[in-house]
Parts: sequence; C-alpha cells; structure tokens
Amino acid sequence: MAADATKTLVVIGVAFSDVAIEQEAAAPWGVSVERREVSEPQAIAAAVGDAAGLLVQYMQVDAATIEACESLRVIGRYGVGLDNIDVEAAERRGVAVVNVPDYAVEEVATHALALTLAAWRKLALADSLVRRGRWAEWETLAPIAPLSDATLGLIGVGRIGGALASLAAPIFGRVVAHDPYAAAFPDGVDALDLESLLASSDAVSLHVPLNASTQALMGAERFAQMRPGSVLVNVSRGAVVDIDALVAALDAGRPAAAALDVLPTEPPPAGHPLLGHPGVLMTPHVAWYSTRSVGRLRHMLADRCAALLAG
Ligand code: NAD
Repeated sequence: MAADATKTLVVIGVAFSDVAIEQEAAAPWGVSVERREVSEPQAIAAAVGDAAGLLVQYMQVDAATIEACESLRVIGRYGVGLDNIDVEAAERRGVAVVNVPDYAVEEVATHALALTLAAWRKLALADSLVRRGRWAEWETLAPIAPLSDATLGLIGVGRIGGALASLAAPIFGRVVAHDPYAAAFPDGVDALDLESLLASSDAVSLHVPLNASTQALMGAERFAQMRPGSVLVNVSRGAVVDIDALVAALDAGRPAAAALDVLPTEPPPAGHPLLGHPGVLMTPHVAWYSTRSVGRLRHMLADRCAALLAG
C-alpha cells in the first residue's frame, strides 16, 4: 500500500546510506520516511512530489522550490544553520522550518579548540618534518608562544562560542569576545568591539550564523586589523570569510595561519591556493560529527518533523 503523502517525510541530499534512524523516530507518530536521490536543487520539487515533509542537509531550498512543493508543511534541516533554506519564503507559504540547534555543541566546540591548538602548535608542519626525515629541523617551526601568554578572541558567544569559552579558559591567558546580540557573556570573558578584539587576539575563532550581516564579515579590512602572526579558526560557515582576501592576508601574515572546517565552496575547487598553503589546515566540515551526535541529529530531526506532521 502506498504511504499517505500527508504523513511522509522525504529525505534528500544526505551522506547517510539509509534512513533507518529517521524511520524509527517517525514511526511512533504514524509518519513514514522515504529517501529519494536528488543531485541538484532544481530537482528537489519533483522528488518531493505531494509529500508533506522534506529533510535536507546542505542542498539549497530556494523560494521557487518551496512554491512548487504545494503539499509541503515542514522542511527539516539536518544541523544548526538555516542559511541554505529560504526561511522567509517558507514563512510566506506557512511551511514550518525545523533545525536541531542542540545536537553537537560539545563536538563543534571541541573541534574548534582542536583546530586552534593544532594551528597554534603548527602540528601539520611539525608532522611533515618527521615524515620528510627532517627531525632535527624543529627550529623551522619557531616562533611558537605559550598559550598562557595568548589571547583567544571569540566572534559570537552563543551555544558553541560559549562552550568553547569554557574549554579555552584554563588554557589561554585571556579570553575575549565580540557579540552585539548576546544577553550575557560567559564568566571571565571580556566583551570587546570587533576592532578591539581583532587587535588584541592571538587566535580568533568564528561562531556566528551566516546571514546578510555576517557574509564576508572577515574580509581585507578586518584581516588588516588582526595581529601579525595570529591564527584564524572557522567552524561556523564558509562564507563568513572572504576566502580570496584570506589568501592575500595569509601572505601578509595577518593572520599567519588559518584552520578551517568550512569553506564558501565545499569541497574547494582543485588547485585552489588554500590547498597548497603551508599556513592552512583544513577539515571537511566534520566539526559536528561524533559517534553520538550523528544518531542524535537524525533521530531528533525526524522526531520533531514527524510530530509536526502528526499534529
Ligand atoms: P547560536 O545562534 O547559538 O550563536 C550564534 C551567536 O552569534 C549568537 O550569540 C549571536 O548573537 C551571535 N552573532 C550574530 N551575529 C553576529 C555578529 N555580526 N557578530 C558577532 N556575533 C554575532 O549558534 P551556534 O549553535 O553557536 O552556531 C554557530 C555557528 O556554527 C553557526 O553558523 C552554525 O551554522 C555553525 N555550525 C557549524 C557546524 C560544523 O559542523 N562546522 C556544526 C554546527 C553549527
């Protein structure tokens, strides 16, 4: 018997090999889950058909798609950021948009700290010395200051930035933050305006949502305000950083190193200058992942969206 489309969630564009977790979460609500293969955003509407729910990860869901999916009542986003969904178009059509803000705060904050420490201690360069038989050439890694002398600057102190502040406090000499909308700052974290934060931070870590005001927030003008020899870390969204400006800024040493989990274009095009840059460390948008978070993400999203369809 065909599934009731008004009680069906369609999953598209995810890296998971099955939707068993989603089906288990949705079943108690009487909602079924189907996976449909879609390789480009223009094909989403046809894949959704008359289903009432759509679950997506990184694929763009634009206004035209939302208009075309006439039966749609809920769009679920695997993750935190809603920057790939036209939320205003969904609101106009009365389509609910559901994300999972709380599934991986520990993982992303830990990953940001790991990237910060790895870039600061120049682990990729040190590793390559060993592999290239250059054990004795450790002085080529200099200078590396002790972290207790260093200041960490956080741009955005919401869930993840706040969690990173707690992890970093015992390690760094000082933790400062810039967040014009924060109701409160974590204990021991000094609030600064953006220019003062960039001028006083040895490592700067980005934890803002991607929106019109944060698009290319870190561009040529902001890099010029950073300290010589500093480190930039981005686990938020790739487009928060102007990547062309970053390449030029790295060559000028402000910042001297960048550790990036996210890029404006993922994966980066072959031959991109960042790929061969000695001061750049990259991970493939995995800050969110752990053996626990992946299951939590899938279960929580399907459960919340199925509950909505079940009324
Ligand atoms: P959050 O909403 O809890 O916190 C974001 C903070 O940024 C808020 O406190 C807000 O006031 C602040 N902010 C907004 N605009 C700002 C600006 N112009 N300058 C300074 N601060 C500003 O979000 P979160 O859960 O902490 O997530 C932060 C980012 O991490 C998001 O971009 C999200 O998409 C990203 N993320 C990435 C991964 C990954 O795997 N790499 C996983 C989860 C989340």
